[in-house]
Amino acid sequence: MENVLKMVLYLHDVGVEDNTLVGANYFNRDPLGQIDEIICQLKKRGIDVVLSADDGYKSIFLILPILEKYKVRLICFITAGFINGEIYPYEVELSTLLQQRDKIKLNSKIYSVYDRISKERFFLDIHKGLKLLNYDKRLQFISKLVLENDFSVEQLRSNLFLTSDELLDLSRHSLVEIGDHSFSHLCLTSQKGHIVLNELYKSKRYLTEIVGKRITKLSYPYGANNPYVRTIARFCGYESAFGTHTSGTYSGFNLPRYSLQEAREFLKS
Ligand SMILES: [Zn+2]
Repeated sequence: MENVLKMVLYLHDVGVEDNTLVGANYFNRDPLGQIDEIICQLKKRGIDVVLSADDGYKSIFLILPILEKYKVRLICFITAGFINGEIYPYEVELSTLLQQRDKIKLNSKIYSVYDRISKERFFLDIHKGLKLLNYDKRLQFISKLVLENDFSVEQLRSNLFLTSDELLDLSRHSLVEIGDHSFSHLCLTSQKGHIVLNELYKSKRYLTEIVGKRITKLSYPYGANNPYVRTIARFCGYESAFGTHTSGTYSGFNLPRYSLQEAREFLKS
């Protein structure tokens, strides 16, 4: 068993378990009951637990009673462009389209996505390629997909992520700290230096203006970082940055975090 005294968990969306969700909508959702149970067990082992939540889902307000119950801190890493819908994650659009349709049209071809397995496979195939693209290319793809399938994303754009007023409200909770998760949620290791710089600089400034406090922590989208991304993060004035439990050699700019599943496996060991 690993000798862990402090564990940072990472979450995204929280709520009840919902088997009608697919793709990112499913795997980004952690049930509140399970979060409570895992914190309770880690604390019993004498481990200092810190929660973190990426992307800036509105649902994170639901976790406040758990923070207060266990007196654990939460770092909310916000994708600044998702606030007020300026940038929208294609992962959610694609997942919601798959939830609603049995057939998807793409480049004039029809794909049958009638059950969970075929929907998940379609999601993963598309996600693999799109994850590495820059924002304009992602947007081009998703706009075409939406058009071909006569699908409206307008409703989605306003409902899932925190607005600036909600973010300010959240930032005033004594156990909550706001951190940065980039502006457009790109995989930073696949982008050119000036794009990485812009992604971090712009989001840090944007978030500082909303919450009126210094933003000192960063989490990399997808946990993806390498020496040049870490150097740019230092240059932008962050004091520490988080990856995932599996994102390479740990350092102050690649701090490990555990998913709920990884914490569950740790507890079994
Ligand atoms: Zn993220």
